[in-house]
Amino acid sequence: MQAVLAAAMATHALLAAHPHLYEPLPPSLSSARPFQYSSLTADPLRLSPSLKLATVAAPKPLAVAAETKKAVAVLKGNSNVEGVVTLFQDSDGPTTVKVRVSGLAPGLHGFHLHEYGDTTNGCISTGPHFNPNKMTHGSPKDEVRHAGDLGNIVANSEGVAEANIVDGQVPLGGPNAVIGRAFVVHELEDDLGKGGQELSLTTGNAGGRLACGVVGLAPVK
Ligand SMILES: [Zn+2]
Repeated sequence: MQAVLAAAMATHALLAAHPHLYEPLPPSLSSARPFQYSSLTADPLRLSPSLKLATVAAPKPLAVAAETKKAVAVLKGNSNVEGVVTLFQDSDGPTTVKVRVSGLAPGLHGFHLHEYGDTTNGCISTGPHFNPNKMTHGSPKDEVRHAGDLGNIVANSEGVAEANIVDGQVPLGGPNAVIGRAFVVHELEDDLGKGGQELSLTTGNAGGRLACGVVGLAPVK
């Protein structure tokens, strides 16, 4: 009987400390059955503080939604060559580079991403081809290439070049992001490093810089 009394007192102490526990207590449960009572009060409020914290801090399911980034460059120069380059990238996938340039001589023109977005001295101050991996100049299909080597665009008889380039080396995020660098369209054909000229392995011997534009972030629509 003493044990029952002690248990009853313990229950009273518990209930006094947690008065809210009185309410759901069914009438059939007497204070002489504290263990059953306890088992019925598996209420989250009774979890220890550390356990509650663990429940709250449980990791959320990983989000797998793709993040799309978009950027744009408006190309201008000292001639009537001009154009727009739009870039899209989903998550860490390849970047789609949509190009439209007008005012060109018909034929092939080297098209590259240059290191800097600095146009204080026109397209010259955009520096060399973007080359974070210290490679020599090449074709976009080559293993050995500058990241900025996007080959040639082809102008039609009206001087308009349109291209849809998909490339893995011109990302819009990460350490080699191209945001803040510049596209340049060149006077001549890029020999893709195979021309045997002095400049083939640095510029593709693509001649002067007709127009350029700095890559900036654009709203994703
Ligand atoms: Zn190059």
